[in-house]
Amino acid sequence: MRPEILFPIFSEVPKLSGVGPRIGKLIENVAGTHIADLFWHLPSGLIDRRYAPKISEAATGVIATITVAVNQHQPPRSRRLPYKVLCSDNTGHMALVFFHAREDYLRKILPEGETRVVSGMVEQFGDNIQMAHPDHVGTLAELDQLKSVEPVYPLTQGLSLKVLSKAIREALEMAPELDEWLDGAYLKKQGWPDWNKALIRVHAPEDESDLDPETPEHQRLAFDELLANQLALALVRAHMKRQAGRTIKGNGHLTERVIGALPFELTPSQKISVEEITVDMASEARMHRLLQGDVGSGKTVVALLSMLNAVESGAQAAILAPTEILARQHLATIQPLANAAGVKIALLTGREKGKTRDAILADFAAGETEIAIGTHALFQEGVNFKDLAFTVIDEQHRFGVHQRLALTDKGRGVDVLVMTATPIPRTLTLTAYGDMEVSRLTDKPAGRQPVKTSSMSIDHLDAVVQGVRRELTKKSKIYWVCPLVEESEKLDLAAAEGRYAHLKAVFGNRVGLVHGKMKGKEKDAVMASFAGGATDILVATTVIEVGVDVPAAAIMVIEHAERFGLAQLHQLRGRIGRGSEASTCLLLYARNITEQARKRLKILRETENGFVIAEEDLRLRGAGELLGTRQSGLPVFKLADLTVHQELLAAARDDAKLILDRDPDLQSERGKLLRVLLYLFEREAAVKFLRSG
Ligand code: ADP
Ligand code: MG
Repeated sequence: MRPEILFPIFSEVPKLSGVGPRIGKLIENVAGTHIADLFWHLPSGLIDRRYAPKISEAATGVIATITVAVNQHQPPRSRRLPYKVLCSDNTGHMALVFFHAREDYLRKILPEGETRVVSGMVEQFGDNIQMAHPDHVGTLAELDQLKSVEPVYPLTQGLSLKVLSKAIREALEMAPELDEWLDGAYLKKQGWPDWNKALIRVHAPEDESDLDPETPEHQRLAFDELLANQLALALVRAHMKRQAGRTIKGNGHLTERVIGALPFELTPSQKISVEEITVDMASEARMHRLLQGDVGSGKTVVALLSMLNAVESGAQAAILAPTEILARQHLATIQPLANAAGVKIALLTGREKGKTRDAILADFAAGETEIAIGTHALFQEGVNFKDLAFTVIDEQHRFGVHQRLALTDKGRGVDVLVMTATPIPRTLTLTAYGDMEVSRLTDKPAGRQPVKTSSMSIDHLDAVVQGVRRELTKKSKIYWVCPLVEESEKLDLAAAEGRYAHLKAVFGNRVGLVHGKMKGKEKDAVMASFAGGATDILVATTVIEVGVDVPAAAIMVIEHAERFGLAQLHQLRGRIGRGSEASTCLLLYARNITEQARKRLKILRETENGFVIAEEDLRLRGAGELLGTRQSGLPVFKLADLTVHQELLAAARDDAKLILDRDPDLQSERGKLLRVLLYLFEREAAVKFLRSG
């Protein structure tokens, strides 16, 4: 249960006075649904109204707060002319100018013969000084309040700064007094304010430097958020570890056969990873390990050898892929090796239906199937195993923590190996997985050719098509990638189809098209024809991003490369350079790309190291943008910015560890306050892993 002290700030935004359903919707769009979300909607700038000159001294083009006598209203003679209010002080005259004015309203706020304070941009108009539509008009008594620094917040169409600022001020007044959950000594050492003070201060910048995410108050709040994140992950993990694990020890007879059947040597890091995994499996504790490896680094073999280790011990293993294409790919890779070792495998995706599905499920339940390969269909209800002991989750960032746990419910003490082909910077690994053990495949399999990457404007399309013609004579296969994102799905699909038609007109039936909207069977047919048949050019949307393996493909053209994230481009590029041929990746960009986009493409031209690319992507774009974070399942932070708060993250991890070592169920006084923190940052899902609520 959410602590009572937080109830008011977890009510909905429209509960604020002066916020109706329409404004409420707009605020929800920019900040979030709860009043507390307004706390985290930080100023992006400020307006300094402290400059309070006399009229004759007022600099133009600057925001000023000026005290004036209101002399005379001058309604316009025609609708097209502005309404003027003539004012003065003892140094000179100025006019306040209003377009589409409402006279009665202006006469009310600016009565003739009275003194008023006006704040806004001072302009020169001919020989005269004027202020068009002052931002604020007040009485002399309100001078101090007007002569202040006003935070500027990110807005959305239809939502004015005035309205949003008022809502935020009101939200801040509702902030409950919360007792300190941070360690007193640490707080002091950092020189951080308490939570309430920090919150007030980040919303009251005095000058630009106060907007810096490294001020003590920003750091304090960012640390709170990171601590909540790390505590939540540590709790999930502790929960997994508490469930009894089991010892899995193979005798090596299957793995030896498969290693013997491999047409290559394992790389040193593959050997080390397999070793690390088998040690984990043999231990009593439940395994929860991350296998990180750049595209093409050979994770599948590591996964297979680990699964065979489980099979040797008499249990079952499963490998879960995020897409159907990838599940089928795993099947194709694993099948011949499994056959060589006499291991029974089966595929289950959303496409296996009716009697076929029943038969597959019966084999799972009877233990006939030793290795199950599939998509999320594997952890649906009705899927049961005789004795599932080991699960590999591929491309895990697409699955959430809870889905990860759901699959482990299908067996007893299931050991989990999470594989990710997206090289995630170390910092993000920590936020997404916590302190999970990590194996990394750092060396590329022998015999790989580097991929030559270049970029050019789409203006040179004709030359590119000529280049493709030359390459086709050398028997290379060619990927032609077009972007497809949800927001512009229809347009993107049309563009991909347009390109397909264009290339088909040039190259005829050697061109194929595959995209995510196609039926599974159609997709398979196109992929199969590209892998081994008549299709030599595959126009594809990003469905090929993950895992697809066609060694004969040595060329990749990526259209609108500027629209992709760096990490995603790197993933795509990893589809080529898999054979012995030298490979080329050509990034086509739109005419008017930004400097930022240019820099990104440059990095891609310069390195093939996925970990380097990921770090650069994080540096250039920030975590919020990385990998299309929302789809990626990586956490999105409201306050913490990992491009500047990396050290805080490490400290939060250490703190979370220390806290749970001493107080695993958050029962102490501090523990109870930390529960408040978890709720404050909506990590309540983790609270249910505490042994007593
Ligand atoms: P990824 O890490 O992207 O999943 P894969 O497991 O799909 O990589 O491996 C990519 C290709 O490299 C596959 O064709 C695989 O058979 C091959 N491969 C894997 N390990 C080695 C190795 N040690 N030496 C040579 N080729 C390898
Ligand atoms: Mg793979």
